[in-house]
Parts: sequence; structure tokens; C-alpha cells
Amino acid sequence: MQDAPSLWRALAGPLQQRVSMDAPLDRDLVTEVAIIGAGYTGLAAAYALQKRGVGSVVLDANPIGWGASGRNGGVVSSKFRLSFPLIERLHGLDTAKTMHRLAHDGVRVVEQFVDEFEIPRAQFEHTGSLRCAHTDRAFESIKAEAEWVRTTLNDRTMTVQSRAEVTRETGSNGFVGGVLSADAGTIYPLEYVRGIAAGLVKRGAEIYESTPVLAIERAEGRAGVMLRTSRGTVRANQVIVATNAYSNLTEATSPFTRELVPFRSAMIATERLPDDLDAKLMTERRSYTETRRMMKWFRKVDGRMLFGGRDAFGKEGRTDGLEALRRAMVALFPDLAEVRVEYGWSGYVGMTFNALPHVGRSDDRTTFCLGYNGAGVAMASLLGQHAAALALGEKPELSLLAQRGLKPVPFHSLRAPGVRVVAAWYQILDAMGA
Ligand SMILES: Cc1cc2nc3c(=O)[nH]c(=O)nc-3n(C[C@H](O)[C@H](O)[C@H](O)COP(=O)(O)OP(=O)(O)OC[C@H]3O[C@@H](n4cnc5c(N)ncnc54)[C@H](O)[C@@H]3O)c2cc1C
Repeated sequence: MQDAPSLWRALAGPLQQRVSMDAPLDRDLVTEVAIIGAGYTGLAAAYALQKRGVGSVVLDANPIGWGASGRNGGVVSSKFRLSFPLIERLHGLDTAKTMHRLAHDGVRVVEQFVDEFEIPRAQFEHTGSLRCAHTDRAFESIKAEAEWVRTTLNDRTMTVQSRAEVTRETGSNGFVGGVLSADAGTIYPLEYVRGIAAGLVKRGAEIYESTPVLAIERAEGRAGVMLRTSRGTVRANQVIVATNAYSNLTEATSPFTRELVPFRSAMIATERLPDDLDAKLMTERRSYTETRRMMKWFRKVDGRMLFGGRDAFGKEGRTDGLEALRRAMVALFPDLAEVRVEYGWSGYVGMTFNALPHVGRSDDRTTFCLGYNGAGVAMASLLGQHAAALALGEKPELSLLAQRGLKPVPFHSLRAPGVRVVAAWYQILDAMGA
């Protein structure tokens, strides 16, 4: 299968470095840890193992970055879907502090990977991210959160912006104010994932593309788990499942979809903006999100408007959600009404029932790490490493992200119609400004 026809593919340079071994796998291998999935999670796990001198083999059904890692919005954020004040209310202050540290650790890892693997093409910029409030009520709520984080966690990176400031910076009249998180940034996601893979391969990592894992079986002895592919096998002591919202590609990994509610997330990119609009819109070149439940986000890339949102409707590859996304973009930015949309693509994000990523072991040989709730660029880069530690029997600090075994989403078989009902309800509430 080819990568999604995204702006990232169009902007990507030719593959100057080899990013994988000769693909697909066509022989039998033995290693310490087998990793399924070559997105940020799987590659971060391979990185952590390589650092410890532990052998690993990474297998992906598709080209590197084919999944969400190569087609996302490239917003590098330091937050979870659950706010820190809510975490404190539900789990106490110590937990909120640990979760806050984990969130910022993710951004540090992205910086480190870009430096260590020398990935200038990923264009990482520590721009900050502006959360734009669509109603007064939403503005009050994000202001209170920023104040709480400042006074309780002593985090000075969140600052409030007035309506006038947000209007001036975004070029949209659609917002009543905003909160700027300074510890955030933007990246070219496909270049980032390819850059990590190329760096790992240069150091001797074994990554095989176009190699779907068809079965995960038990075997005798220390290498007690066997991955079957169409032309070879990998025997390992441990396996890490890093397939996230694409876990249902084969029967072997589909049990891991039961942790998740898949939401389709789509993006469009316009033609290059004329000079006057380029000078007016998103002048600080940050990433921008809004407070609606069916959140939209946007940033400027290559002189174009990149605009994304979750719609939950339809199957991958369908384009009917893209026109709705264009209308949403024009509603916020009427100046873009006549600007052509040149790219449109979508992918799946893995939402979880508790709105947090899940890292754990499903049995004595298998570790899973998934469910980033649409914010995995930084978090998957971090948690893949923690998953590797867990697979080796270490005890990484995971706080609320630690899972004991697989916990299927309740009423899993109803999740597809359920998602549509919830999405429709959210759209109604958003339209009412509730
Ligand atoms: C449109 C979109 C926009 C997004 N925007 C943002 C954003 O701006 N910021 C942000 O932080 N996050 C964003 N995300 C989320 C983020 O991209 C993901 O959380 C992150 O990429 C997950 O990485 P991963 O490695 O766990 O999974 P993926 O990158 O999805 O990788 C999983 C891999 O597993 C492979 N696989 C699956 N099953 C098998 C099998 N049986 N055998 C072999 N291989 C298999 C797949 O081929 C795939 O390559 C977005 C996601 C989407 C879809």
C-alpha cells in the first residue's frame, strides 16, 4: 500500500538514506524483542532497546510512516486530552505533577530525536501552540486551567491572550480569546518518522517494511514468541505491539483494537496563499487548536493553510468529509473562500475510554502502547521508549498511563455507530455554543 496522498508526501524529499532493511522479510530471524509497527511508537521502542544494547527487529505491514505517524498535523504538544486540574481533582496533586512532567518529557524527546538523528528536514520549530476559545464559556475555562497550572504546578509556559491578540495573530474573527502554551511546536511528521528510521538503520537497527505480521504464536524456549509473516518468521523473547489505530490490519494484532475507539481524522491543505493573506493569517506561525468538542486545528506550512478536524464518518480514503472541512475552514477564515484546496487526506486516531494513552502488558511476553487520543507525535516518541523498558522488566514511571492487561472498550461491538452518535451530538452542542 502507498502512503496517503498528503502534503507531507508532496513536500518530502527523495529518500536519501535507506530507512529499512531489504523489504519484505524473507527469512527466519531470532532476536530479543520483536516490534510490530514502524510509526513513532515502534521506532522509539527500537531506539530505547538499541541504547541498552538489546537486539530488536521491527516489522511493518506498510512503508515507514504509512500510519498516523506519516500523515498527522505535525502539532507537537505537551498535554493530554484530560486537563491537569481535572487529573488533580480525580487522582490528587502528586499524580497531576507526574502527568505534567510526562507531557513535557514528550516534547523533550522530539527535540532530542531531531538533534541526535540530525533531521533538519523535519523542520521542527518550538513555536508554541495557541488554543483559541470559540465561546466566552470556553475562554473562562481555559483561562482557569492556565491559572491553575501556573499557580499550582509553577508552570509559566501558559499565558492568556485577549480577543484582540488572537484575532490579530490568527487573522480570524472567530475567537473570543486564547491561551498560549509555549512548550509546543510544529514538525513535518513524515520527515520526522523517516528521519528516526534512517538514523536507527544507520546504527544497525533491523526494520522490515511491507511485512504484515499474520500470527503471533507461542514457541518453546527463551525465544518463546513467534511472529509469522508471509515469507519469514521472527522468534523473540518479547514482543511490543505498536500498531495503534491500525491494529486491525491483520487478525494477529486486531485484539488490540479493542482498547480503542477509532476516530477518522482528516486534513486539507490549500494552494500557496497570496502574499496579502500570507502576511495576515497566523503571523506567528504556531499551531492553533480551538475549543469546540469536534475540534479543528490549523497551521501554516509551505505558505499554505493546513486545516484539520475529526469527523468520525466514513471509511478511510473517502473524501466526503473533506468538503465539510473546507466549509469549516472558510467559516473561520472567510478570506479563504476563493483559495483552492490542493491536498486532502485522512487517517485514524486511537481514542481511549479514559482519554489517556495506554501502556501495559497483555501477557508475560507482550507489551502494548497505544491510544494517544490524537496527540501522539510527542507522546508516542516518549512512550514507545517506556514500552521497551516495560518489556525488559523495568519499571518506567507511567502514572495514569499504566494499564494492567488489555481492557476492551465497553460495548466494543457498538463503537462504530456509537462514535457516530457521539460525534453528531457534539456537533449539535458546538453549533449551539454550549
Ligand atoms: C489525520 C491525523 C492528524 C493527527 N494530528 C496530530 C497532531 O497534529 N499532533 C499529534 O501529536 N498527533 C496527531 N495525530 C496522532 C498521531 O499521528 C498518532 O498518535 C501517532 O502517529 C501514533 O503513532 P504510532 O506509531 O503509535 O502508530 P502509527 O503511526 O499509526 O503506526 C502503526 C503502524 O502499525 C502498522 N501495523 C498495523 N498492524 C500491523 C501488523 N499486523 N503487522 C505489521 N504492521 C502493522 C501500520 O502499518 C502502521 O505503520 C494525528 C493523527 C491523524 C490520523
